[in-house]
Amino acid sequence: MSPSETDAGTGPDASSADCIFCAIVAGTIPSRQVYADEAAVAFLDINGWHRGHTLVIPRRHVADLVSGEPTLPAIAPAIDAVARLLKDRLAPDGFNVLSSAGPVAGQTVFHAHVHVIPRYADQPGFTHLVDPSEVPAAELDAVWAEITGGTA
Ligand code: AMP
Ligand code: ZN
Repeated sequence: MSPSETDAGTGPDASSADCIFCAIVAGTIPSRQVYADEAAVAFLDINGWHRGHTLVIPRRHVADLVSGEPTLPAIAPAIDAVARLLKDRLAPDGFNVLSSAGPVAGQTVFHAHVHVIPRYADQPGFTHLVDPSEVPAAELDAVWAEITGGTA
């Protein structure tokens, strides 16, 4: 992230007014939503590391899982439901579930989120976990339809 992006209000101290994930919760920015309940919303990561990589976020703005009121207990049912949905629809060979808190941990969006990442046998282990190559929109639309049964 460049300094100018940080200055624009996207850093760890950003308020909900500046927050891209709050905008997704509000519906003012589109997302490929796969699940929602009263506490959480889940949608495909726009640049996911593996097919079906999904973010589970609290509806309430909080910078990360270790700030403010406890967030993980509130979104745990959503994390569980999303992992089972992805397991059912995409039949991956495994999962990683992770959340980063703070820039030093690699967090880049400062609205708490949990990555639910299906894993496939052809790219095993931690060494293949992170792949920041760009995912074409058509591929995201295809996997979204496979998870939700919807048409993009
Ligand atoms: P982290 O680096 O743990 O903060 O994760 C932030 C994630 O949010 C990254 O994997 C991004 O690809 C993802 N992301 C950023 N903007 C969007 C967006 N508009 N829709 C979906 N995912 C996004
Ligand atoms: Zn937010």
